Amino acid sequence: MLSRMIAYECPRCRIQSPTDALTWCCPRCRGPWDLAFTSAPVSLPSLAPRVNSLWRYTEALPPLPYGPEVSLGEGRTPLVRLTDSVSAKLDFLMPTLSFKDRGAVMLAAHARRLEPRTVLADSSGNAGTAIAAYGARAGLDCVVYVPGGTSPKKLEQIRAHGARVVEVPGDREATARAAREAADEPGVFYASHVYNPYFLHGTKTYVYELWEELCGRLPDTIVVPVGNGTLLLGAALALDELHRHGLVDTRPALVAVQAAAVSPLAEAFHAGAEDLTRPAATRPTLAEGIAIPAPPRARQVLRAVRATGGTFLTVTEDQIRTAQRDLARRGLFVEATGVACWAAVNAAPPRPGLTVVPLCGAGAKTGLVP
Ligand SMILES: [Zn+2]
Repeated sequence: MLSRMIAYECPRCRIQSPTDALTWCCPRCRGPWDLAFTSAPVSLPSLAPRVNSLWRYTEALPPLPYGPEVSLGEGRTPLVRLTDSVSAKLDFLMPTLSFKDRGAVMLAAHARRLEPRTVLADSSGNAGTAIAAYGARAGLDCVVYVPGGTSPKKLEQIRAHGARVVEVPGDREATARAAREAADEPGVFYASHVYNPYFLHGTKTYVYELWEELCGRLPDTIVVPVGNGTLLLGAALALDELHRHGLVDTRPALVAVQAAAVSPLAEAFHAGAEDLTRPAATRPTLAEGIAIPAPPRARQVLRAVRATGGTFLTVTEDQIRTAQRDLARRGLFVEATGVACWAAVNAAPPRPGLTVVPLCGAGAKTGLVP
């Protein structure tokens, strides 16, 4: 079926590459790929008897024959009311305790088909953990590059899955650079949650699940933590698809949240810029999972937020601390990065209608912040 033919495509240069090649970025601009892929409409009434994981949205997903084999039952996380107008989607209840499993399972299923010598990932923690787990499930050799100083519990989890860990001195960007160099070696599949667009087609199931849970409707506002923007861009993909197929009438606002300490996208957004104009000044933050000074998909993130009439919010370290304790007192123990959206929603003026925040990673991974 022609509409299901897929290729990598650079959103800037429009250069295409077959998805069965190991070419991890656009050869001209070295930017991340998109996937030239057209989803088919998902039929809401047909969903009830399907598999209880994100693989139930099969029409929306790029064809991945090894998906069911590699699956660990990811997805279908609960939506829980926090206040009259704010609900939380508990994405920390995933096989590796973070939302990254949504994308990692796609990359592992894709890599399983390509049979590379090594699968390589770089991550401040959660994505590396997810790739290690799904790589183990798929029987693939995995190596994960992490910044020095990454939480010991995260490293322990990565190693427990059989992946090798390479600790790179310096900041997150130094780790990304080292990984990109290693990714150019022959036989390496770069399982990058930033560069490989299969990841975004996994994270988009976050919104398909909201749509199903709310019986074919969507919340008025979807708040998402943004570092590289992988959940936000997945959400934007799903909103486009649901809209294009006539499955929703309205488009929720996408509200992006960054830590004030590392907020290049929020600064660019409020300056009216289409891209990052200069490297952002950064300070240490408790929200290590979204501390990304120069996200490669910045342009796409800014455009996606503007297209929905959304905005950017930032949160302080004190607000993160307070939000983590507040959620814990409500029965939800969430890691510091994962509480940023709840912190932001509490500090901002209330928005009309239903707002959904994701709680992206489990508190057990990092403990209570000091
Ligand atoms: Zn390009």
